[in-house]
Amino acid sequence: ELNLVPIYQGNSSDFGGILLVLQDVSAIRRLERMRSEFVANVSHELKTPIAAVKGFAETLLGGAVKDEETSKAFLQIIYDESERLNRLIGDILELSKIESRRVPLMLSPIEIKEFMTNTFAILEVSANRKHIDFQLSSPEELYMEGDEDRLRQIFVNLLSNAIAYTPEGGKVEVDITVTELDMIRISISDTGIGIPEKDLPRIFERFYRVDKARSRGSGGTGLGLSIVKHLVELHKGTITVESKVGQGTTFTLELPQIH
Ligand code: ADP
Repeated sequence: ELNLVPIYQGNSSDFGGILLVLQDVSAIRRLERMRSEFVANVSHELKTPIAAVKGFAETLLGGAVKDEETSKAFLQIIYDESERLNRLIGDILELSKIESRRVPLMLSPIEIKEFMTNTFAILEVSANRKHIDFQLSSPEELYMEGDEDRLRQIFVNLLSNAIAYTPEGGKVEVDITVTELDMIRISISDTGIGIPEKDLPRIFERFYRVDKARSRGSGGTGLGLSIVKHLVELHKGTITVESKVGQGTTFTLELPQIH
């Protein structure tokens, strides 16, 4: 942006020249735009479940409560939507904390293979329910320095997505290796529905979902992957994604190894 500032000396009739002020306001503008987009998205996301809660409660109050079946169904919707609101608000607060760097990491040495085995255990029930086969392959013991709770959050998020977006009887595989640059590479692959190529670059954006209706059905908030990416970066790592529609998706993380 170019600002022209006339310079006057003493008496305003003494025109002293023109001062050119060159300022890059585009970065500030971009931040402002992102912030207001975020607020707009948040409001929109919150309004949807609130509208459902309100609408079904109104219908019940209007007389539907007399029919037991209907009222049960409506109460279930009200309950589910409240839960969804709860998750949304939790994720929004979490993301804003992480983005403003208000999450001190409690670092300790973590052995990755054991850590992944324990994380699998948390999700075993939901994998079994869909008859999804979990597999872990890892060489010897590998250590990294990390915040256990935050790392748990990363892998629970990625693995529960893998389960959610993989049909019955599919497979979720975690493969751990070491790169030439001494990073621990963890790839999480599924045999699920995949992500269209055009959506891949945006997948880590806040609230971005490939198919809103479908992922809302799965209970997602569209914030999981943004949170994951921030947490990986806080651990000085990287995360990338590859996918083929109808074949599956692989998320690959690289995190610094310690010896
Ligand atoms: P959500 O809460 O909707 O799952 P995420 O931020 O975790 O939000 O993921 C964003 C979107 O990326 C999802 O809505 C889904 O469309 C897509 N996605 C994430 N993981 C996978 C996966 N393993 N397979 C297919 N699609 C996925």
